[in-house]
Amino acid sequence: MKFIADLHVHSKYSRATARNLDLENMYIAAQLKGITVVGTGDFTHPGWFSEIREKLIPAEEGLYKLRKEIAGECDKNVPPSCRGKVRFVLVSEISNIYKKNDKTRKNHNLVFVPNLNIAAKFNAKLDKIGNIRSDGRPILGLDAKNLFEILLETSDQAFLIPAHIWTPWFSVLGSKSGFDSIEECFEDLTPHIFAAETGLSSDPPMNWRVTSLDNLTLVSNSDAHSPQKLGREANIFDTALSYSAIRNALKTGDPKQFLGTFEFYPEEGKYHLDGHRKCNVCLWPEKTIKNKGICPVCGKPLTIGVLSRVEELADRPDKEKPEKTHPYYSIVPLIDILSEILQVGPKSKKVQRNYNAALTELGSEFAILYDLKPEAIEMAGIPLLGEAIRRMRNKTIEISPGYDGEFGRVKIFSEDERDNLRGSAS
Ligand SMILES: [Zn+2]
Ligand SMILES: [Zn+2]
Repeated sequence: MKFIADLHVHSKYSRATARNLDLENMYIAAQLKGITVVGTGDFTHPGWFSEIREKLIPAEEGLYKLRKEIAGECDKNVPPSCRGKVRFVLVSEISNIYKKNDKTRKNHNLVFVPNLNIAAKFNAKLDKIGNIRSDGRPILGLDAKNLFEILLETSDQAFLIPAHIWTPWFSVLGSKSGFDSIEECFEDLTPHIFAAETGLSSDPPMNWRVTSLDNLTLVSNSDAHSPQKLGREANIFDTALSYSAIRNALKTGDPKQFLGTFEFYPEEGKYHLDGHRKCNVCLWPEKTIKNKGICPVCGKPLTIGVLSRVEELADRPDKEKPEKTHPYYSIVPLIDILSEILQVGPKSKKVQRNYNAALTELGSEFAILYDLKPEAIEMAGIPLLGEAIRRMRNKTIEISPGYDGEFGRVKIFSEDERDNLRGSAS
């Protein structure tokens, strides 16, 4: 069956996450978004792990579902137009900070396990190595390669996906504390890595520039820190609903099983260009090179974003493709589209009201962003929404790019256009 999966999410036990990021709200949010398989996140955390064991029960092989009585209560918060199956897969993100080849390395890694027993065994091993109790995304002074070794020793069905591989500060290829290749990090275990997460600030064409990534399945996930952010990036599968089918689709990269990804516009990501947020400096790669990587305001080294870093490691010309690629679909979160149409903040009541109305009328967010015809979307009675979706799908929108931790900003309509279109609609 065809389904959407968001495999990198956090729980309320991770630092800087929403207090309501629990299994119930993940279950509700997944349905509103149109996601079938969602990562539990944080299973290494004892508090979260006991909630998982309490509230989830086995469903299909390697997948879990919310207990019936809990699900029934949650469904009251989901309009009938959005209701669907939700399954959880056991995954946790580990932050590895260690020295290798004379440099401090910081990278994040997603570990997936096939069942609760394996998760418990793996947790017990990590508990002896470092502190997994204070943060849902534990920071371990453990070489990522050793982490992977421990994982594979625990189960040969477990797998590891390097997370948001281009983020400057915390990733395997990041400009600040990364490596120049996946192989430099994982050495002889590299052949066991079969997928990599591109992160919000890069999209597949950027990754295609680096030939050492050619054999990896490029996945995209939300890395959500609140239920609302679920599915801002996601993967499309067409397999049986099971852990091993998902693993196999990622491992083989078979285009009939892994259908591709939903992507943030990379310019929207927090680390697309180079710059200093505090100095209000945002530079394109050529400018950064001219400035020798130094901020023209404060004279300190700039935070080098993902575009520059990809350029640095690229060994294939722009616009050329590896032999095997998967389709990708660039999306803008519906909340951001409504915020742009209504000209009020994404967290405003007005946006929330219109968001709820659109979902009740039309179905899940992914149905609106991806499936429905713009004419059908217009039926929801939100002026300009159909046209905005059309422009998003045709990639005729403007984005002022993100840099140094600042998200990019989407612009779908100009002032005049908005007034004109609205006038003609009414
Ligand atoms: Zn991370
Ligand atoms: Zn500066």
